Amino acid sequence: MGQAHLHEILESLIDQHRSAYTEGEVASYIPELKKGNPALAGIAVWGPDGLVAAGDTQVPFTLQSISKIITLMVVLEQRGEAEVFSRVGPEPTGDPFNSILKLEISERRPLNPMINAGAIAVCSLLIGNTVEERFAHVTSLLAEILGREVFIDEQVYQSEKATGHRNRALAYFLKDTGVLEGDVEEVVDLYFRQCSILVTCEELARIGFFLATKGVALTGKRLLPPSIVRLVTTFMVTCGMYNASGEFAIKAGIPAKSGVAGGILAAVPGQFGIGTFGPALDSKGNSVVGFRILCDLSRRLDLSIF
Ligand code: GLU
Repeated sequence: MGQAHLHEILESLIDQHRSAYTEGEVASYIPELKKGNPALAGIAVWGPDGLVAAGDTQVPFTLQSISKIITLMVVLEQRGEAEVFSRVGPEPTGDPFNSILKLEISERRPLNPMINAGAIAVCSLLIGNTVEERFAHVTSLLAEILGREVFIDEQVYQSEKATGHRNRALAYFLKDTGVLEGDVEEVVDLYFRQCSILVTCEELARIGFFLATKGVALTGKRLLPPSIVRLVTTFMVTCGMYNASGEFAIKAGIPAKSGVAGGILAAVPGQFGIGTFGPALDSKGNSVVGFRILCDLSRRLDLSIF
């Protein structure tokens, strides 16, 4: 398919689905996120022939939960699969992303690295002597993928740091059960920093293309072994869309990870990286507009991996 034809399709998806934002709400539990404009909508696709985009694809927003896949890739490379999976399991939960429930009633390690408890456990495995040094491993992988320096949104970071009590509770629980080692406040700080990394919808597509090509940056340089990317994209299928991952697998069938600032990063293996943006969220925390656009795009272009 030509770039012009793809562009027409993306424009029509934005026209058709933009108004669905009225069915969702901007996340408000992190006070700073309340400032997001719910009416924004964008989709960007990176393929072998480059970028095609429609709508609000250059507006910066924070990665939030999408950052979990970046840190997971870093930690898998630093520590290896065996050590990572001694701290966090491989199973979907069916619970909300910030749930504490299963930590006590099932096995003590978090069920997977895409829920907050699991992502916090993964953060605690980042190697380094200081928070700055440990966080730099996350930003430098992302910087290589994006081809630019990486920044955080200081207001969102401070806002989450001041109000993220549930995440702190998860971290202290994990400290108690021995899953999390080291200083709890430092680990939570790392987690808040990664959630506050700024990206655009176009850049999500670029990260998606990095996953779709199994770990090769646009420069042609291999940044990670394919086995790590395969593992992470598998988690995107089973738990990337919170407790709507099953529904999304049926309707879109594309590995994807969403975040509460309204971004969704998707990767069609061997073909495309896709980014969508729309800050109004449904009851499960996924962008209403992004979810619909991805399902519709998948149907129109037959992108399901199943
Ligand atoms: N920073 C958010 C939190 O931990 C991320 C949640 C998300 O995007 O799902 O509450």
